[in-house]
Amino acid sequence: MSLITVGTMAFDAIETPFGKTDKIVGGSATYVAYAASNFVKPIQQVSIVGYDFPVEELEELKSRGVQLDGVEIVPDKKSFFWSGRYHADMNSRDTLVTDLNVLADFNPQIPDSYQGAEFLMLGNLVPAVQLSVIRQLKQRPRLIVMDTMNFWMEVALPDLEEVLKHVDILLVNDAEARQLTGQFSLVKAAKSILQMGPKYLIIKKGEHGALLFDKDSVFFAPALPLEDVFDPTGAGDTFAGGFVGHLAKTGDISFENMKRAIIVGSAMASFCVEKFGATRLREITKTDIEARIQQFKDLVNFEIELL
Ligand code: AMP
Repeated sequence: MSLITVGTMAFDAIETPFGKTDKIVGGSATYVAYAASNFVKPIQQVSIVGYDFPVEELEELKSRGVQLDGVEIVPDKKSFFWSGRYHADMNSRDTLVTDLNVLADFNPQIPDSYQGAEFLMLGNLVPAVQLSVIRQLKQRPRLIVMDTMNFWMEVALPDLEEVLKHVDILLVNDAEARQLTGQFSLVKAAKSILQMGPKYLIIKKGEHGALLFDKDSVFFAPALPLEDVFDPTGAGDTFAGGFVGHLAKTGDISFENMKRAIIVGSAMASFCVEKFGATRLREITKTDIEARIQQFKDLVNFEIELL
């Protein structure tokens, strides 16, 4: 089943307690595409890059079944640039620089060949652009999943609230859920987000796992306890790619299958953090992914006799 992925393709400069990178390839849609392409093809990417984005990266993505007809290349502008510094706990970070560059006037045109896609993953991006993609699709996808971040809550809240009315699942981290609702309790925050439009909500809690809510139920998945977390950049997008990739592969959008999708997303995210940027996502094989999902099963599987 086809999956449209929308988001940034970018350069990132990252500082963690373990090291520092100069500009490396990142961006929400890049991570989503690397993760999801392990499960479903084609991935139909919608993004924008400047003259400086490496051709080899585009070729690598293509070789993984990622279609780039919806990726605009602007010949006289630079790609989106983001720079961040992680705190010692590796769960929180400060954004140092957000240079929109090509993103400042991004007005995507959805190629005809993308029409009819059943799944839409709106990666972290300008909310008005996320909305424009939904509006351009002649047939509403069966499932629309959306990611966002605090930056857009600060600079484009009304647009963000509008997109929320049109999506099925929102993905945010715990701090963002609190910021969006003004509620400290994540259960209360979930209740209020589920009244803003989405039918399901996923709250990511970094090394403490993720929660899936619908109006009646909640499910929790842990993150894999890793000896070393090297660079968490892109973990949220990689989680999203694994999550939606599993749903698109199976075609099953029930709450039960979303539980499995969360485990797949968590497994993919656990690879992402092992090396800088998307390096680890380029290396892993199907066997690595299967072994990691088995580790998750072993981690949470127990039997108990009820009294
Ligand atoms: P994550 O660590 O999952 O939140 O994703 C980090 C990625 O998001 C980086 O590769 C950045 O290029 C990208 N990014 C950072 N800020 C933004 C933004 N405001 N909008 C879209 N993408 C962003």
